[in-house]
Amino acid sequence: MLSFPQVGQDYPEKRAAGERAGDFAEISLGFQTFKAEEQSSRCSQCGVPYCANHCPLHNHIPDWLRLTAEGRLREAYELSNATSTMPEICGRICPQDRLCEGNCVIEFSGHGAVTIGSVEKYITDTAWEQGWVEPLVPGPTKRQSIGVIGAGPAGLTVADLMRSRGYEVHVYDRHDRMGGLLTYGIPGFKLEKHVVMRRVDRLRDGGVIFHEGFEVGRDATLDELRQRHDAIVIATGVYKPRAIKAPGIGADGVVESLDYLTASNRQSFGDKVEAFDSGSLDARGKHVVVVGGGDTAMDCVRTAVRQGAASVRCLYRRDRANMPGSQREVKNAEEEGVEFVWLSAPEAFHGEERVTGVQVARMRLGEPDASGRRAPEPDPGSDFQLQADLVIKALGFDPEELPRLFDAPELSVTRWGTVRVDHKTMMTSLDGVFAAGDIVRGASLVVWAVRDGRDVSERMHAWLKAKSKMEKVAA
Ligand code: FAD
Ligand code: SF4
Ligand code: SF4
Repeated sequence: MLSFPQVGQDYPEKRAAGERAGDFAEISLGFQTFKAEEQSSRCSQCGVPYCANHCPLHNHIPDWLRLTAEGRLREAYELSNATSTMPEICGRICPQDRLCEGNCVIEFSGHGAVTIGSVEKYITDTAWEQGWVEPLVPGPTKRQSIGVIGAGPAGLTVADLMRSRGYEVHVYDRHDRMGGLLTYGIPGFKLEKHVVMRRVDRLRDGGVIFHEGFEVGRDATLDELRQRHDAIVIATGVYKPRAIKAPGIGADGVVESLDYLTASNRQSFGDKVEAFDSGSLDARGKHVVVVGGGDTAMDCVRTAVRQGAASVRCLYRRDRANMPGSQREVKNAEEEGVEFVWLSAPEAFHGEERVTGVQVARMRLGEPDASGRRAPEPDPGSDFQLQADLVIKALGFDPEELPRLFDAPELSVTRWGTVRVDHKTMMTSLDGVFAAGDIVRGASLVVWAVRDGRDVSERMHAWLKAKSKMEKVAA
């Protein structure tokens, strides 16, 4: 260990930009054994590991790095697996620069952080290859059953941990495949779909009952589900797209980011997607303008490149330093040919039947707003035009109106529309109804959804145990 003064930071090689822009496979080649061992050996085994403190799961990072450096990979896997239900997924898509790696002391000393995420991915990918990933074995059968609404990372984590405790677990999702945004939001070049599907299959094989194509609010009310199960977890994510207010926004060719990404992900599964086949959600040969500066916008621009767009531009109203998306993703996008137009916002969309162009206002950064970030304001007289045949709106998402959709007006929500929970019990205003993930936090990260899934499982288990005891006493 402590080899960082001699051994430099070395991330797994990326495929050349030209090659990777032609397909939807992951761009990183992954570590080979000797590299994973070498890079793990750079860790200085801090007594107070800031990396782990800044990992939402508090993963035992220095311990599994040491085991990896010593070639004890199976033990490294077991330790890594003890705190996470999907380490290979977090290793791929966590914004490590803001979490574990961004807080590594070696980074602060100018040597470059330990490449924690890539090692984490390597450990569990190897475990899958070697057959070390154990099937899900349910604990002693309990008579209580749980209904999970939403099969994203929060819901799947609950399903995993509650089924392991012996509960009967039913997962309801309106989509035809499980995984939430892991399946239909995040593109394959960040997270290949077989990586998600093998996790879902493991749960199914372990007895988790999935109800695909089941939309709560359409196929059952929340109350009906409460009659069927002893406890419910709402893990529905956030899906209401933020709107752009500008003339011409309703023109054909101006589309929602998630419609666009879902169509592309469905294509990758080999599904027939009419809106893609008709060209309306296909960027091939088009001049594409994406509006937004977060993860979703980054995924849209890079998807458009892979579909063979004639040009891809990203409009963002702040500058590079103030964007919410990961700098790593901006770099990847630039390498693949995306042009970022910083400090710019759409003012109007032109075109008779379909969009043909965007009128863009130049922005400048004014005084800090309530969030402490400098607020963008238009720079008068600096408008310009961009050619566009496809405009993708990627301004982020708010919660849907769950009390109305679920026919449950007594379900309490915050002023942002997120489901209100008691932070000690993680229970909502309804007895036995818990909530986790983006629907509680607002749009966040996969690793936080996993953390919430872990926490809510613990609280719900305690609540169910107490309930069962009380029922026995009453009987
Ligand atoms: P979701 O993953 O949204 O899953 C919710 C599920 O609930 C969905 O399957 C939905 O179909 C289902 N559902 C909703 N309503 C109902 C209903 N009424 N009945 C039945 N089912 C319902 N995070 C990262 O950490 N790294 C990234 O690189 C990253 N990239 C992203 C890219 C995009 C394009 C987007 C949109 C988000 C990205 N995120 C990323 C954020 C991350 O995906 C989310 O924070 C995470 O998926 C939230 O998990 P969740 O389980 O709360 O909800
Ligand atoms: Fe880092 Fe995310 Fe893994 Fe935690 S889960 S160690 S933050 S990559
Ligand atoms: Fe190792 Fe960096 Fe974590 Fe310290 S902060 S334990 S050096 S990975």
